[in-house]
Amino acid sequence: MSQCLFCRIVAGDIPAARVYEDEELIAFNDINPQAPMHVLIVPKAHIATLNELAQAQDALIGSMVRRAAALAHDRGFSEDGFRTVFNCNAGAGQTVFHLHLHVLGGRTMAWPPG
Ligand code: 5GP
Ligand code: ZN
Repeated sequence: MSQCLFCRIVAGDIPAARVYEDEELIAFNDINPQAPMHVLIVPKAHIATLNELAQAQDALIGSMVRRAAALAHDRGFSEDGFRTVFNCNAGAGQTVFHLHLHVLGGRTMAWPPG
């Protein structure tokens, strides 16, 4: 069995509150939400970080970003705004080394991020 937490969620070995799934992606609520909406969009294939991306994954990343906008739209955050974040490596706050896109909405966001 994979030791990767998000591979295990993709496989259904660990439960998660899924809000979207298709053949290449799943999206589920973050277990420790930092905003009223905090969804993680996760490719089913294991990719550790943004540093491992190849041109072959360009369409996948496009699908992830467009799914973020669609989920934010579904929750009514298109106009007020929402935030998308890829943390890459520990210095940027990455703790799970399986690529994921955070989608946060429902509160005012500060800039610069912490
Ligand atoms: P990172 O810090 O790697 O950018 O984001 C990892 C995210 O995964 C964190 O926001 C954390 O709360 C979330 N997370 C960690 N473990 C679990 C889990 O078992 N289930 C869910 N749904 N989210 C998790
Ligand atoms: Zn994985």
